[in-house]
Amino acid sequence: MGELRVRSVLVTGANRGIGLGLVQHLLALPNPPEWVFATCRDPKGQRAQELQKLASKHPNLVIVPLEVTDPASIKAAAASVGERLKGSGLNLLINNAGIVRETTLDTETLKDMSEVYTTNTIAPLLLGQAFLPLLKKAAQGSPGSGMSCSKAAIVNLSSIGGSIKEVYLWEAIQAVCYRCSKAAQNMLTRCQSMGYREHGILCIALHPGWVQTDMGNAAGATPPLTVDASVGGMLKVLSNLSEKDSGAFLDWEGNVVAW
Ligand code: NDP
Repeated sequence: MGELRVRSVLVTGANRGIGLGLVQHLLALPNPPEWVFATCRDPKGQRAQELQKLASKHPNLVIVPLEVTDPASIKAAAASVGERLKGSGLNLLINNAGIVRETTLDTETLKDMSEVYTTNTIAPLLLGQAFLPLLKKAAQGSPGSGMSCSKAAIVNLSSIGGSIKEVYLWEAIQAVCYRCSKAAQNMLTRCQSMGYREHGILCIALHPGWVQTDMGNAAGATPPLTVDASVGGMLKVLSNLSEKDSGAFLDWEGNVVAW
């Protein structure tokens, strides 16, 4: 298995959980990216302390303010990343930020459905649109044919909870809003893979496993996977993706997940 080599990468929701783990692993790669853009809602706040500590040790880590449900914030983030990259493109956009609500079919509301859909489904769409020029530039600037995460890719953190076939962990947590948002996000990934193929941008839906994070713990039992195990697996999977994988739904071990 090859190791992921990427010049620039952006991770949303990077101040805790899987997003923070992704940033830590990317910085620790034998050939780390020249630029790791870690986004969070409040870079100077209490909740970004881990990122601030990392940034003081790693000059290639840039913390970017981003509220993923705010289109103006998305545009501002894309502009500031573009400035930093000084004419070169962004290789890898990882749409990781997400929310869950512990709702049931009976307690689900318009508000919960809307907020979760906005964060988990609409934000990855808008981020794809805003970063498209930088992703295109990266694809054009990379040698060779074919697609890969080292060239240009959008990775949407999905969930087996959104698999219509599996309906994973239904007995533990219904979270109808979350399941619907991830099923829709999967379709978005498929659409992005179709629409961005001509630009050489690989698009993938990636299930991280059931992971020990604030969100993972919400299902009521201890999740089997540590953040390290999940992220280590996902980065291996990403390093091996090629054109044939664009538009697929894979898990942290590279297995195909049923839609
Ligand atoms: P966490 O709840 O631990 O972290 C979520 C991250 O997303 C936080 O950094 C949070 O920031 C950020 N975020 C949420 N809403 C917004 C917003 N509106 N704007 C900006 N940032 C936001 O979740 P995980 O790390 O567990 O999950 C990461 C991804 O993996 C999600 O997409 C999730 O659906 C997916 N996933 C997770 C699984 C698990 O078992 N953990 C299983 C399957 C999928 P803040 O601190 O400001 O709230």
